Amino acid sequence: MRSVSEHLDSILSALTPIAPLDLALPEALGTVLVEPVVAPVPLPPFDNSAMDGYAVVAADLSEVPVVLPVVGDIMAGDLSATGIRPGLAARIMTGAPMPGGADAVVPVEWTDGGTARVRIDRSAAPGNYIRRAGEDVQAGTVVLPAGTLLGAAQIGMIAAVGQARVSVRPRPRVLVLSTGNELREPGTTLATGQIWDSNSFMLTAAVTESGGVGYRLPTVGDDAEKVLEAIHDQLTRADAIITSGGVSMGARDIVKEVLTGPVEFTKVAMRPGKPQGFGLIGPQKVPIFTLPGNPVSSYVSFQTFVRPALRALQGLPPTSSDTVTAVLTADVSSPAGLRHFLRGTLSFSDGRYVVSPASAQGSHQMGALAVANGLIVAREDQAQLPAGSFVEVLRLP
Ligand code: AMP
Ligand code: MG
Repeated sequence: MRSVSEHLDSILSALTPIAPLDLALPEALGTVLVEPVVAPVPLPPFDNSAMDGYAVVAADLSEVPVVLPVVGDIMAGDLSATGIRPGLAARIMTGAPMPGGADAVVPVEWTDGGTARVRIDRSAAPGNYIRRAGEDVQAGTVVLPAGTLLGAAQIGMIAAVGQARVSVRPRPRVLVLSTGNELREPGTTLATGQIWDSNSFMLTAAVTESGGVGYRLPTVGDDAEKVLEAIHDQLTRADAIITSGGVSMGARDIVKEVLTGPVEFTKVAMRPGKPQGFGLIGPQKVPIFTLPGNPVSSYVSFQTFVRPALRALQGLPPTSSDTVTAVLTADVSSPAGLRHFLRGTLSFSDGRYVVSPASAQGSHQMGALAVANGLIVAREDQAQLPAGSFVEVLRLP
């Protein structure tokens, strides 16, 4: 049997990051920069007012209150601001360019708000409420390095430096296929012996939750030809493929039968999720993950192997730091030599994380998974974990 980390390493070493694309900014959420973004100009680009108020010469306010004539209004977006001279004020709005000659802004709250003349009640130092050109970002600065995962704030930053398109690794497109004669679509009626297909919905959502774009294919039965056909039909539009079911030791384990060759089937020292398969398929060498059918096995396999792989496909470090150390509320025993993932409820109290293992730990028991928010990880060398001991917990998205 292979260890979890050996299996993950063999997957990661076979992956090549997705080729970069040039995308318009609105399409770029969740993609990863392949080139740094550099500010071509300073931000702010010009000295401007930080408040709605009056642009003044600070020296005029040495004795307050003082009344000054207001020579004009300067709005945000005004192209050139007329200057002022000592003894004068100009009404100015937040973001409007500072007029020549002024060296301070007095907020409207410190005045009577006058339009022809203004009475100012407080003095101000030179520079008061002025946002200087370049005080946010200087021209030529790398505002985002290559390898940055683009979220809302990063997309805002790119727009703020005037860039409309970016060169990025896109979110991986991942096809999900459930196999099994017993599977029916949710929303239909079951005969005895049938169940509703849950894995394909769960895994498609897990892909999207992990930063990819999941596409669910219609379920196929345990039919070698149909399984192959469904996979090969879709190869050209996939960056990766996930199947569920048909990979253990049963008489109808068709996925294993038809994909042996491009896919290497292995037993991994973990619970749940022992039967695993991974390979590169078709002329495009698309990564394919063949996950076990038991829903909790499928889910844990996804989090353990597929999620890091999707990050690697975008050129990101494969593991994100979603792990915390928590205190166990109950004893856990775990088979020696296996990595054991137990469903649990994680909370934070008295300055530390606490985790309670669910009582139902069967690999078919979706009920416990659906209300869990963490996977307790009992390492290969941790056979007995008494209540009160510290364990690693993988926080679930
Ligand atoms: P298999 O890996 O195909 O031997 O399936 C193992 C167990 O998982 C069986 O009880 C299956 O009925 C169940 N199973 C397989 N695929 C799915 C699925 N897509 N949704 C829900 N349960 C499944
Ligand atoms: Mg099956």
